[in-house]
Amino acid sequence: MKILIIGAGASGLMCAVQSAWLGHEVTVLEHEKHPCRKLNITGKGRCNVTNNCDVQTVMANIPRNSKFLFSALSRFSPEDTMAFFESLGIELKTERGSRVFPVSDNAKDISGALINAVNCADVKIVTDSARSLIIEGGEVKGVLGGRGEYRADKVVVATGGLSYPKTGSTGDGYKLARQAGHTVTELCGSLVPVELCGSDCAQAMGLSLKNCKLTVTDNSAGKPVFEQQGEMLFTHFGMSGPLVLSASAHMQDITAGRYTFSIDLKPALDDKKLDERVQRDFAEVPNRDFDNSIGRLLPASIIPLVIKRSGIPPEKKVNQITKAERAALCSAIHALTFEVKGLRPVSEAIITRGGVDVKEISPKTMESKLVRGLHFIGEVLDADGYTGGFNLQIAFATAYACAQSF
Ligand SMILES: Cc1cc2nc3c(=O)[nH]c(=O)nc-3n(C[C@H](O)[C@H](O)[C@H](O)COP(=O)(O)OP(=O)(O)OC[C@H]3O[C@@H](n4cnc5c(N)ncnc54)[C@H](O)[C@@H]3O)c2cc1C
Repeated sequence: MKILIIGAGASGLMCAVQSAWLGHEVTVLEHEKHPCRKLNITGKGRCNVTNNCDVQTVMANIPRNSKFLFSALSRFSPEDTMAFFESLGIELKTERGSRVFPVSDNAKDISGALINAVNCADVKIVTDSARSLIIEGGEVKGVLGGRGEYRADKVVVATGGLSYPKTGSTGDGYKLARQAGHTVTELCGSLVPVELCGSDCAQAMGLSLKNCKLTVTDNSAGKPVFEQQGEMLFTHFGMSGPLVLSASAHMQDITAGRYTFSIDLKPALDDKKLDERVQRDFAEVPNRDFDNSIGRLLPASIIPLVIKRSGIPPEKKVNQITKAERAALCSAIHALTFEVKGLRPVSEAIITRGGVDVKEISPKTMESKLVRGLHFIGEVLDADGYTGGFNLQIAFATAYACAQSF
């Protein structure tokens, strides 16, 4: 059978190699000069290739449409992803949070292994851009590219989403889906930096906090939707860093005032211990101005903001600070709050939320229910996961399910 895959990224190449191993004649169209540009930058260049967990845990890390993925994930689980790359000679290791990386810490080893496997299986990679689908009598017959027509029995759209468009994922897959009559659900970024209201956070721009705790509260529901400890970064617009990217996946329909960020700068100390620590620091410099007295407790660039939030006059001598004022200081340190304004654009996101409506796709084969022979895999589908290797796992599992149906 002649298979044409649009996109030489994670899902496209996995589908290509699996299809070729089944004996099909496979061509991949890729509009970038080099395949796997996005894969090469995953996991900060280390590629968190999957998560070493069971299928139920993967499902729990996919906030929407996880049921749709159950069949694919059951047939190509994280264990299968690991076995696949190990069979290609890549040594893997499991880190904190069951995240799996190549031992070399080099994402290019993962993409290199995929490209090598594809080449060894005689898959043809053609540099061209898919412009439109050729559909005749409710069946796909091929693709019209910038340099000509490509006829095939099956066409697989593996074009990725809208995030990091410089890697080649410019959203073409959604246009092709719409051309075929598919619904594309609302598109936005997930795992994306967050904009905060006001200019307070800009004062601490560039500050990277380690071991702080972030709680995100949905004020409309009156409950926290995210609480985790880790690393975050102040920027000119708000906040970024691993903790914030993860938190963004738990927020939706953001309107002013809906979500509040609360940062605990000293999560290891309870109120009593923090107060004791403050008192010890004050006792060492009793005649100093308040704004000059907490340099050992907090990073310099966050101090003006904490002082402002505590309401204590900066020039007040520390030996005159009252118990109530100390309590206000401790609560500013334990709960530095910001109102969320919105998310950064999808181009800055790790993953696209939304995509081809999965109700119109067969979960077993990833085939369109509207056009015979047309398949959608990877990020172009309306399914995305949290950080931890779950998004590549979705790409590989949907690719495998698709290939097995040929
Ligand atoms: C900075 C960053 C870090 C990430 N880190 C991780 C991580 O560590 N772990 C994880 O699980 N996930 C990670 N992700 C997410 C992961 O990269 C994606 O989920 C995954 O790449 C999606 O695979 P895909 O095949 O659907 O799309 P892509 O990998 O984006 O591939 C799509 C391909 O299609 C090509 N294409 C698009 N349109 C056309 C067209 N019209 N004609 C021809 N070719 C076309 C593109 O050029 C591209 O090569 C990260 C994402 C980013 C941006």
